[in-house]
Amino acid sequence: MNEKRGLLIGRMQPVHKGHISVIQETLKEVDELVIGIGSAEKSHTLSNPFTGGERILMLTKALREYNIDPSRYYILPLEDIACNSLWVGHVTMLTPPFCRVYSGNSLVQQLFQEANIPYTQPPLFNRTEYSGTEVRRRMLNNDNWEKLVPNSVIKVLKEINGIQRIQKLNQKEISELV
Ligand code: NAD
Repeated sequence: MNEKRGLLIGRMQPVHKGHISVIQETLKEVDELVIGIGSAEKSHTLSNPFTGGERILMLTKALREYNIDPSRYYILPLEDIACNSLWVGHVTMLTPPFCRVYSGNSLVQQLFQEANIPYTQPPLFNRTEYSGTEVRRRMLNNDNWEKLVPNSVIKVLKEINGIQRIQKLNQKEISELV
């Protein structure tokens, strides 16, 4: 029998405990999970501070920390494209075959639905805290962001000076201050 393979796409800026929970839950439903790191080409902005490669490193280390069997998932970078209407074709060209998409993002759901690929909206885990926006806000304010991400992600962020980067990106140009 064919393996049941699902697709989950996330920007993961940065990887947080909500992402790990949704991956753990989805792996109860599928044999294998293709995990696409979305907007892989984006980095060094306040909403997308980390590169695609840095996010792959965070997720690989975090899934290992949570003892998730590496034979059950594939992690791939997925660059954005300008045309939403062509995006599903772009994604399917780059990913192993899958039969269902797992996403809480309404645009992602809409685009796959129009392409007749079914989606599931996974349950949310502590969304007020486990959200990329909240983690980045806390990083900017040195406000207890560590508890929202796996320990291995803290380690990667130290290795790449991630907190220093996001705080530097937040500094105003001297010319903007006068
Ligand atoms: P995200 O990292 O915010 O979330 C990824 C997924 O994780 C969500 O769908 C959600 O199901 C899950 N999640 C997040 N927090 C959770 C929590 N607390 N509990 C449970 N689940 C949680 O990423 P996203 O914004 O959904 O990523 C979509 C990607 O698709 C983006 O990179 C976007 O640019 C890309 N995209 C690109 C195009 C294009 O290129 N034209 C079109 C559509 C989407």
